[in-house]
Amino acid sequence: MAEDPRDWEIETRAVRGGLMRTEHGEISEALFLTQSFAYDTAQSADERFAGNAPGFIYQRFGNPTTQMFEDRLALLEGAEQCKATASGMAAVQLSLMGLLRAGDHLVAGRALFGSCRWIVSEWLPRFGVETTYVDATDLEAWKNAVRPNTKVFLVESPANPLLEVTAIGAVAEIAHAAGAKLVVDNVFATPLFQKPLALGADIVVYSATKHIDGQGRVLGGAILGAAELMTEAYKDMHRHCGPALSPFNAWVLLKGLETLDLRVRKQTDNAGKVADAIAAHPKARRTLYPGRADHPQAAIIANQMTGGGNVVAFDLGDRAAAWRFLDALQIVDISNNLGDAKSMATHPCTTTHRSMPEAERLEIGLTEGWVRMSVGLEGPGDLVRDVSRALDAA
Ligand SMILES: *Cc1c(COP(=O)(O)O)cnc(C)c1O
Repeated sequence: MAEDPRDWEIETRAVRGGLMRTEHGEISEALFLTQSFAYDTAQSADERFAGNAPGFIYQRFGNPTTQMFEDRLALLEGAEQCKATASGMAAVQLSLMGLLRAGDHLVAGRALFGSCRWIVSEWLPRFGVETTYVDATDLEAWKNAVRPNTKVFLVESPANPLLEVTAIGAVAEIAHAAGAKLVVDNVFATPLFQKPLALGADIVVYSATKHIDGQGRVLGGAILGAAELMTEAYKDMHRHCGPALSPFNAWVLLKGLETLDLRVRKQTDNAGKVADAIAAHPKARRTLYPGRADHPQAAIIANQMTGGGNVVAFDLGDRAAAWRFLDALQIVDISNNLGDAKSMATHPCTTTHRSMPEAERLEIGLTEGWVRMSVGLEGPGDLVRDVSRALDAA
């Protein structure tokens, strides 16, 4: 019997999933840097455009390299379908716009990546979509926010930057009882450590820029879900609005997926060691890491995540201390990306979350002393030494 890639172990899916070889039998996936495709006859063009014959038409609609990336990521996620986008933000925007119409209502967890918050607060209202923000850990708040026209729930879990974790299954139940769809931004958990679709979510989005590339090279994003919903909500929008991922970036991301498991597990190992060193240091008032037993949502994490991920957040009291910490780092970079091979740390209040009004920052507990660190692939001894020395200096 032929192997079904869906039955493969995750490492095998990451290396071989979606592979489409040409007649040359290349080992590394082919990069199809082509915008258009030729048809043998006028009739075959007609059939392809009508959707009655398989085959590619135009890069904005699809491309073999991009499709390999989509198929591989769908296999990793356990999703029926994946649509790749040019960035994570294109994925977030498309995921919402495809499910919402003027007059609809969205309920969103209030701790969101800065640009996601901008889309919800500034962009969607232009199209007549209203939003209620909730404390994503408070199930009653989700229930109470529901209106007759609520169509979508949006949550990021673990959330940026303070790693708040939401009970995805329970929120999915509330969404479905209200006739709404649940969209989960799963960037921090990665496809390895949390399966939102299996927990009840309808749509998962990724910034592939983060762990999936993981080596600081390209932007990319993805939307995943059941084929029927994906087709209904996104197929035409993806074709006509133009958020397609470039095949070159898809190729880079395909190679990224091959080592995702290795990299993220090593990063997570390192993050656990770094988080423990930070938590034990007197300068850290509070340390938040989903892999530690003292995380406020540790019980939920035990239920729905199989790893803590590579991001740690810690409070050094005030901005001056946070900046002294950052400036004293010798190995870890001061930078705002995450999921990279290189460790990096940032001061969210003055970087990633600076456009968030102070009152809203305080609502999610983000005060000036917080630092967010993305732990990379360096030696754990070097990282712990660098971070401990910088904490001494804070
Ligand atoms: C980075 C990020 C995004 C946006 O992704 P880009 O690829 O930078 O557009 C969205 N959500 C989360 C949680 C992120 O960390």
